[in-house]
Amino acid sequence: MAVTDTAHLLPKVADPKESIAEERKSPSFPIRELTYWIDGGKNITQMKERIMLELERSPLWRVNDHPNLTLAETRERAMSKVRHLADLATSRPLEESMLRMSIISVVDPGFWTRFGVHFGLFFGALQGQATPSQLAYWMERGALSMQGITGCFGMTELGHGSNVAGLETTATYDKRTDEFVIHSPTLTATKWWIGGAAHTATHCAVYAQLIVKGKCYGTKTFVVQLRDTKTFQLMPGVNIGDLGKKMGRDQIDNGWIRFTYVRIPRSNMLMKHTKVTRAGDVIEPALAQLAYGALIQGRVSMVSDSANVAKRALTIAVRYASVRRQFGIGEPGTVETKLLDYPIHQHRLLPLMAQTFAMVFAAREMNTNYQKLMSVLSELGDDKGPAVNDAIKNLKETHATSAGLKAFCTWMCLNIIDQCRQSLGGHGYSAYTGLSQAYSDFAVHCTWEGDNTILTLQCGRYLVATALDARNGQPLPANMLYLKDAIAADGSLSGKPCKSDAVDVVSSLNTLKAAWSSVAANAIRNAVRDFEAGLAKGLSKDNAYEFSSASRLHAARMHTYTYLLHRFVAQVEQSPAQLRPILALLARLFGAHSAVQHSGEFLQSGFYSGAQIETLKAFVNTACADVRKDAVSLTDAFGYTDYVVNSPLGRYDGDVYEKYFDLVTSLNPTKPVPYFDSLIKPLLERTNESDTGPELEIDQD
Ligand SMILES: Cc1cc2nc3c(=O)[nH]c(=O)nc-3n(C[C@H](O)[C@H](O)[C@H](O)COP(=O)(O)OP(=O)(O)OC[C@H]3O[C@@H](n4cnc5c(N)ncnc54)[C@H](O)[C@@H]3O)c2cc1C
Repeated sequence: MAVTDTAHLLPKVADPKESIAEERKSPSFPIRELTYWIDGGKNITQMKERIMLELERSPLWRVNDHPNLTLAETRERAMSKVRHLADLATSRPLEESMLRMSIISVVDPGFWTRFGVHFGLFFGALQGQATPSQLAYWMERGALSMQGITGCFGMTELGHGSNVAGLETTATYDKRTDEFVIHSPTLTATKWWIGGAAHTATHCAVYAQLIVKGKCYGTKTFVVQLRDTKTFQLMPGVNIGDLGKKMGRDQIDNGWIRFTYVRIPRSNMLMKHTKVTRAGDVIEPALAQLAYGALIQGRVSMVSDSANVAKRALTIAVRYASVRRQFGIGEPGTVETKLLDYPIHQHRLLPLMAQTFAMVFAAREMNTNYQKLMSVLSELGDDKGPAVNDAIKNLKETHATSAGLKAFCTWMCLNIIDQCRQSLGGHGYSAYTGLSQAYSDFAVHCTWEGDNTILTLQCGRYLVATALDARNGQPLPANMLYLKDAIAADGSLSGKPCKSDAVDVVSSLNTLKAAWSSVAANAIRNAVRDFEAGLAKGLSKDNAYEFSSASRLHAARMHTYTYLLHRFVAQVEQSPAQLRPILALLARLFGAHSAVQHSGEFLQSGFYSGAQIETLKAFVNTACADVRKDAVSLTDAFGYTDYVVNSPLGRYDGDVYEKYFDLVTSLNPTKPVPYFDSLIKPLLERTNESDTGPELEIDQD
């Protein structure tokens, strides 16, 4: 036998392209229709496809070599795209620009941040907090188009973050000159983490304590020029430094800023809400809560981003699992088993697919509600009245829901990325397969735009307050109506437990909705109980809320999962008939798998018995096997091109090994080892004259 002739002795090697092609033979739903449904319409899908192609064709937008760039190259590459995108962002319709940014947030999250700091944070601060005439002034100076002004957002300080009221930077009004004096009085007052400060920004929206006539009025926002726009020299009194390398998102130049008695005109204070007159009178807003609106947009975009990034991670993991083979029968001539055929692999990935769909639909609905709310708020005057009261109630509700969704969706997505990465085995650890960097880039979503733990506590506080209001006869908001059905007047749970043991009943959408409503109601009831126990111990209201923080956080979790399931089911009901079976299956998998993960709560609320939880577990296994049949088609429906997926393991055609090998070898060509002469040769050739140890004896027997 020739030494080369061994193929018949080994398992047959399957062609990965054939392996993935066979997955697409008989999808149970029309893939294209599902793409339209996910995207929100055929025209949006088409616009998305045009944008993806446009990015792929532009040399500026090359992304597959990112892992090999240095910090300096990464930042310079990002800056080279800013000009291109700034022109597009202002010349194209808003809807198209938003869509482009949502794709870029997946393709190049670090760049998205560099760009977003100007448009989302700096310009967003102007939009949310400037008076109409101030906004017009800054727009005329180029604040929207980045002509003459590039902005950053200076809220966080070295010693202060989540507690914005505790910032130390001061803005003291000097009536003599009609100016504010911006100052960092201590080291801990140094603005820290400020994206774009190190290299890019000419102006900053600075958060500082407003001090007028010796009185402090709390944190307000001031536009401060950092650099001369022609020479880029720092303005007098401004000191800036670079924070250097981070865990991810190195495309953005985060920096620190210190102000030493920097003078700005009074008109640079953004005065939509609080105003300071020439005479030094401070006029506080009649409705301070209206300022909350500005915070919601960032959270809504984090929920969308969670859905979009999770779609990419699953595309990579599921497609790879359909071509990667391990073990199996092992007979010569037979192929090994696809990872996707192992029940445990299905169990690892497919509930995450269901979570991703839940986030897609929640994000869409959140976005629609936010737009509606903002248009109502923009039409409100300063007068109080029923319309204003309704708007404020709605604002509080959206504020709390978006806080919970931002926290739990970003946590969910971060987990999805890492689970998908682990499902790739060793290849998941390579920088060229896409998910290690995705994890590092995404992780910060759990911290900025409101730290997740703090946001969940805010959401929990709202739930407790709303439950107490309801007890006093106030109507419940639509997303909390389940409280009314589940909690009896005496505070006990009146929700009916699941009566049947049949799997179809235990895991039906109606039962799951009722089950989640019951545990959410129970969790809120427990948080109210702990809050009241705190009050009964003589604690102040704030301290009683602290006392109940663990149960508040838990209530926020249960409420948010309930919200996600209810919105998912609403989308199933509204979806086209051909899509309903697969979407209903995914919604059931989401509700049932999440319930199994929190089974203690369902037993505690009494909705499910132990035997019914076992039935749910069995349902999750069969649902995973059913979703498995469509798993690759579901990733196709996400509609990302290979360029956006940007991983050789997640390619549409399944040609993973050839393309992975090509990418790794082209980016790391074999060359002589550069430090052979200086380091390796001396190591190998060193002699040790003092070495008198025994010679190695070899036993001849
Ligand atoms: C990459 C990056 C870019 C950023 N870009 C900007 C920017 O451009 N502009 C800007 O202004 N900021 C920026 N930030 C700052 C970011 O917004 C803050 O990091 C965030 O608000 C959290 O604040 P902190 O880091 O001070 O954490 P802290 O508030 O100190 O929190 C630390 C920990 O304590 C917990 N904690 C805090 N308070 C409580 C409490 N009351 N109860 C229970 N737990 C609590 C938190 O959950 C957290 O785990 C950026 C941050 C990063 C990492």
